[in-house]
Amino acid sequence: MKKIVGILFLILISSLSFAKSKIYVGTNAEFPPFEYLENGKIVGFDMELLEEMGKIMGEEIKIVDMTFDGLLPALQMKKIDVIIAGMTATEERRKSVDFTEPYYTANQVIITLDGDTSISKFDDLKGKKVGVMLGFTGDIVVSEMGNVDVTRFSSAYSAILALKSKKIDAVVLDSEPAKNYVEKNTELRLVTTDSVAEEYAIALRKNDKKLKEKLENALKIVQENGTYDKLLKKYFN
Ligand code: GLN
Repeated sequence: MKKIVGILFLILISSLSFAKSKIYVGTNAEFPPFEYLENGKIVGFDMELLEEMGKIMGEEIKIVDMTFDGLLPALQMKKIDVIIAGMTATEERRKSVDFTEPYYTANQVIITLDGDTSISKFDDLKGKKVGVMLGFTGDIVVSEMGNVDVTRFSSAYSAILALKSKKIDAVVLDSEPAKNYVEKNTELRLVTTDSVAEEYAIALRKNDKKLKEKLENALKIVQENGTYDKLLKKYFN
């Protein structure tokens, strides 16, 4: 009997030491090509990047999909450990969370209807009806301009629909998802703009110094060993 208990104990101990720890990763799978649903599965550049980083870190990655504005509260409440969601490391967000080194540089662009030549730069949005996504960096950029009639949407998809039905004159959105929408809709036009660049980074709680170190180390490795470039080629054109 003693022997059996001893063996069971050994099995338990060894399985515990081999069990990978899990990192719970919050995202919002409505931001192609960074994160989106394909046949019910969450895929995208961010997802694969983190998966590869997880391999280096020896950690299992568990994706948790939620609304974009629910991500920061979920991180604070420890429902998730990190956020990767094409999230811009803004000064405002830095007040409550920490960010790793950036992994992607993006900028805000304008989408209009194809025939509309009245908008060719950000300044032209003054006096127009402009759709943004609530709480996104585009919301901040447009809201700060003044003189713009801003409508806030809960998803880029609904903003694009409003534009197509002429309820608004333009949508301001991050460059890559915007390109994605315009490519799929011939009646839309992308306006390359004069806006400032912004940087996407992985968010985590301020006191998670060890995790930050591990993530940054893994990020450096995937950037140096060609994995990052391979993913860039796969998801961007
Ligand atoms: N980069 C934008 C932001 O951080 C949008 C991110 C997103 O929708 N996933 O607000």
